[in-house]
Amino acid sequence: MFDETDFRAKPGNKLNLTKVSTDYTAGYGSKEEAQQRIEKNIERMARIQDILYAQDKYAVLIIIQAMDAAGKDGVIKHVMSGLNPQGTMVHSFKVPSPEELDHDYLWRYNKALPERGRIGIFNRSYYEDVLVVRVHNLVEKQQRLPAEFINGDIWKQRLEDIRNFERYLHGNGMVIMKFYLHVSKQEQKQRLLARLDEPDKNWKFNSGDLQERQHWEQYREYYEEAIEATDKDYAPWYIIPADKKWFARLAISEIIADNLESLKLEYPQLGEEQLKMLSVYRDQLLDD
Ligand code: AMP
Ligand code: MG
Repeated sequence: MFDETDFRAKPGNKLNLTKVSTDYTAGYGSKEEAQQRIEKNIERMARIQDILYAQDKYAVLIIIQAMDAAGKDGVIKHVMSGLNPQGTMVHSFKVPSPEELDHDYLWRYNKALPERGRIGIFNRSYYEDVLVVRVHNLVEKQQRLPAEFINGDIWKQRLEDIRNFERYLHGNGMVIMKFYLHVSKQEQKQRLLARLDEPDKNWKFNSGDLQERQHWEQYREYYEEAIEATDKDYAPWYIIPADKKWFARLAISEIIADNLESLKLEYPQLGEEQLKMLSVYRDQLLDD
């Protein structure tokens, strides 16, 4: 068994992802063994989602970040499958459109935030703006910031923007959970090869992933920096060992279910007057 704190970055220590296991499974031996627990977690999430929706106070934002082929889509498909689609929205953020590039970088994410009572899942997020944008130096080239606005501290500045943005969201009733799916470079290679070798997976292959793979070390460093700078109790990061897809799904479903349960949500209670009216309405219907 495991506890969500097992996957939090340890405060005070510099985060070094090369020292964090990618294939830890917390004593679980197989997919089959994990599956029952995943299903149980999905039921727990669905139960709380129903109350979340009825109560209409909290919004839940789940951010999923990872290197290519780490299993983001699979987590979303398997872990969120039991949720009520009316109360859930998934946004996958791709290369920004011309319209999106005409705005500040947080604009498109802000627009996609979940409403109260809902669970919003971000498949990639504003963290890309301190990851891929940093690796490829896109602030001036693609995002078109005026050169005099870009100084050496732009990444520090953005990480501060993000910290403040998340604190602001939290202060407005948003529960935020952030997951980094941690795969090894070797495992990524195997998964990319599978996309080439297995006909049903060919469609997933993107030659761009091979280019990004060349920047592995840089991505890792920037992830370390981003996670360290933005790992807060109001917006925690969980570093999830993801070489075994089933374990990543188990850990994420468990953490989400635990966090949602800890909110101790309850169905809205009616006042005395409203309760009295219910019996009036009941009588009306029965006499109908
Ligand atoms: P995927 O999630 O594999 O479908 O790919 C989406 C692609 O969009 C990835 O290659 C990301 O690097 C890219 N992307 C996402 N957000 C941004 C961004 N803010 N700027 C540039 N590229 C991005
Ligand atoms: Mg991809």
